[in-house]
Amino acid sequence: MAKQAKFVYYFGDGKAEGNGSMKELLGGKGANLAEMAGHTDLKLPVPPGFTISTEACTYFFTHSRKHPPELKQQVAAALKRAEGNVGRKFGDPKNPLLFSVRSGARSSMPGMMETVLNVGLTSRTIPGMILQTGGNERFVYDAYRRLIMMYSDVVMEKAAGVEPAEDQGIRRQLERILEAKKHEKGAASDTQLTAEDLKELCDKFRAKVKEVLGTPFPDDPEAQLWGGIGAVFSSWNGRRAISYRRIERIPDEWGTAVNVQTMVFGNMGDDCATGVAFTRNPGNGENKFYGEFLVNAQGEDVVAGIRTPAPINESSKSEHNAHEVSLEKAMPKVYKELDAIQKRLERHYRDMQDIEFTIERGKLYMLQCRVGKRNGPAAVRMAVDMVKERMIRPEDAVRRVTGSQLDECLHPVLDPKAEASAKPVAKGLPAGPGGATGTLVFTAADAVRFHREGKTVILVREETNPEDVEGMRAAEAILTARGGMTSHAALVARGWGKCCIVGASSLDVNLRKKELTVQGGKILREGDWVSLNGTRGLVYEGSLPMVTGADSNEHLAAFLSLCDKLRKLKVRTNADTPEDAARARSFGAEGIGLFRTEHMFYGKNSEQPLQKLRRMILSRTLEQRQKAIEELYPFVKSDIKATLEAMDGFPVTIRLLDPPLHEFVPSDDRQLEELARSIGMTLADAKKRSESLHETNPMMGHRGVRLGITYPEVTEMQIKAIFEATAECLEAKQKVFPEIMIPVVGLEAELKNQLDLVQKVHAEVCKAKGIKKIPHLVGTMIEIPRAALTAGQLAEHAEFFSFGTNDLTQMTFGFSRDDMGGFLPHYLEKRILPEDPFQSIDRTGVGELIQIGIERGRAARPGLKVGICGEHGGEPASVKFCHAVGMDYVSCSPFRVPIARLAAAQAVVEEAAKKSSKPAGKSAGRTAARSRMASVTMSNGTSRRRAKATAR
Ligand code: PEP
Ligand code: MG
Repeated sequence: MAKQAKFVYYFGDGKAEGNGSMKELLGGKGANLAEMAGHTDLKLPVPPGFTISTEACTYFFTHSRKHPPELKQQVAAALKRAEGNVGRKFGDPKNPLLFSVRSGARSSMPGMMETVLNVGLTSRTIPGMILQTGGNERFVYDAYRRLIMMYSDVVMEKAAGVEPAEDQGIRRQLERILEAKKHEKGAASDTQLTAEDLKELCDKFRAKVKEVLGTPFPDDPEAQLWGGIGAVFSSWNGRRAISYRRIERIPDEWGTAVNVQTMVFGNMGDDCATGVAFTRNPGNGENKFYGEFLVNAQGEDVVAGIRTPAPINESSKSEHNAHEVSLEKAMPKVYKELDAIQKRLERHYRDMQDIEFTIERGKLYMLQCRVGKRNGPAAVRMAVDMVKERMIRPEDAVRRVTGSQLDECLHPVLDPKAEASAKPVAKGLPAGPGGATGTLVFTAADAVRFHREGKTVILVREETNPEDVEGMRAAEAILTARGGMTSHAALVARGWGKCCIVGASSLDVNLRKKELTVQGGKILREGDWVSLNGTRGLVYEGSLPMVTGADSNEHLAAFLSLCDKLRKLKVRTNADTPEDAARARSFGAEGIGLFRTEHMFYGKNSEQPLQKLRRMILSRTLEQRQKAIEELYPFVKSDIKATLEAMDGFPVTIRLLDPPLHEFVPSDDRQLEELARSIGMTLADAKKRSESLHETNPMMGHRGVRLGITYPEVTEMQIKAIFEATAECLEAKQKVFPEIMIPVVGLEAELKNQLDLVQKVHAEVCKAKGIKKIPHLVGTMIEIPRAALTAGQLAEHAEFFSFGTNDLTQMTFGFSRDDMGGFLPHYLEKRILPEDPFQSIDRTGVGELIQIGIERGRAARPGLKVGICGEHGGEPASVKFCHAVGMDYVSCSPFRVPIARLAAAQAVVEEAAKKSSKPAGKSAGRTAARSRMASVTMSNGTSRRRAKATAR
């Protein structure tokens, strides 16, 4: 006979059929219960019970909500074993045993699925239970009314698919009866109700259940148990659970396990308690046992927040609960036992644990343990401390901290507690992390004006453009209704480490009236307070309190140096000003991967150079242009020189002018007239020239290298500035190293054309300075698909490649970086795209082009230096991709430098882990393209070597 499939796994009395590694089968809770109960190092006091596997859940959903035939008998056997262990029987009128029935998915889905407690209480077992508790009728009827409430809600209503009208759910109806009873008795809380009151309530509850749901509340323990099990399975496909899975990207097919565990009670009297604790402080990472508990209470009372919990020990006390008696003081013996257990648990799991316990008549029971959630600063501190304590290796430490946790350490954030109780009024894309609060302004000029008056302002725009930069600088944060993650606002804000939300499409911005209509139709006006969570893209009305993400703390520095020891990728920064460069250096940048020269024409101190540039742009003749260029030259040179100096010998990649020129010409008549006058032109002429610059599709228009080809004098001026600045620094014995980068190249001839100019100017400057050579490199951006495909030809001339993945993504998908806000949310919602390709590299398409570019480039020029300077260079998954395809460096905005350092280290550690766990030849049978990407995803050295060898 075929071996029966196993669906039920017992745990308790120092034994367990499962263990902690079986999360896929037993869910997180079940696996850890088994580990706590059965592992030889632990054997903790876990109330006995059993876990019904996720496979049973899958069966349930693939067989019209029927259980596998063998389940009944396996459950009965496990139940019997638990009964034998505690010496009581399920359904026994004399000495009954009660169970809890809880969900437990592979990864925790807090509050998303269902639980039923006190299963097994019926009219026949109630007297036995009263006897067992020494005549505590009050306790038993309280347990019974809780059972009726939970069961009717979870099993009889939700799992049965009953959809009550708003506020008419059975739980709400029963709560109203409870409230009425309390009112009648003048009771402030449930605890003031007597046994008689509760008994009466139970009768009323049962009658209400029958009346509302049409079936009686089951008075049979078996029916209750199986109803509970089915309901927990069904809750996997409940509305809340489904939406949570969408957000957290948890696959639908995982299913949940069900844990059936003997009940222990923390609410039988003053020698009982229940609590939640962490082996270290999850708020700051301090290595101190931390937690809360309630005397004479059930777990749900702690969660429901009806009573304020007391601190578990003296060191957990805060100003809010300092007057409460700690568990350490109230029950010293049990506390000592709990403290010893928490230490063992942390040592065993080698990570901070979140534990739930119950004390029943002075006896301690462990109900749950799992790896505890923690905030960013705590995650960093714990990782560093645990390495120092030799609990974990640096590789483990690096894997434990996420990019967003690290980010939290760098930016001020909204107080999470205040945020939890506030409701967002709009949602957009999280373009610049951190939090901000300020008053609304609608124009850049107002932002500057209010800022000068000492006000903190949030600049709201339909979308921003370069003319807004001054206002963006002055604003505390930026909010736009349109635009994506690489829109102007997003790029600029990220570069400055400024909080920013873009593409909040539900906002209606009325610039004329200076009004903003938010969700629900409410109108906010200039001067009204709003708060932004730029890490999550949430907008709130009013001023929420802020907390500083642990500023440049010692733990962070120690953690990043662990990362640096492991990583192979270098990390550079995209910096446009000497200040940005200096900040990035302080974050650990090892050079500048992108210095966008045009940024000197925006923002602080830009008035003069911008004026000269505009004059150059509007020039009609070469002579006029050359004159304007001469005037512009000193500004360009001093900007470049200051940036080279700030990087102290690290390479600085200076990109030649890229944006379409019309971006710099004022759009309103008054400003244009002023400009025309200042450069001796009529308004009509200036307008004509400005109109001639207008393009229908400027992103694919006259920009990048195309400017340098049509106006070689502009390229020459920039190159001269770079070489002269470098020569002057070298003369002054300063260490500097420029790398000249040509943007938007698609043709070999374009690159060649500009290189000839570089060589010519190099010779001229050397001659003028009386030197032989000025050290530098010349390279190209790869941001057009054709450039990636013809990388072999480009590498004949370029000494380095820098992938401009903003444009490369734009041109590979044909999605405009500035206009995709209109359809991206729909694409994400309908899962047409798994994520925003402007945030995280699309490995399949854009990634393939990058790989081709690297292969062909390095085939033509072995050792070709390759980096990335698109926004993806600071996004963890993309950084890992860059490592896998063998880039030399990533470059990102200053505030993302630490995140890139972490992701680069994680790439190495994950690669090693995959290598050691991957059986050979696993990818056979996939399509060629997929296996190629899979090998990159696996990211091992072999695939990189292969990338070099298979140049096409
Ligand atoms: C890019 O296209 O990826 C890039 C870095 O250039 P920019 O964003 O300035 O176009
Ligand atoms: Mg570009």
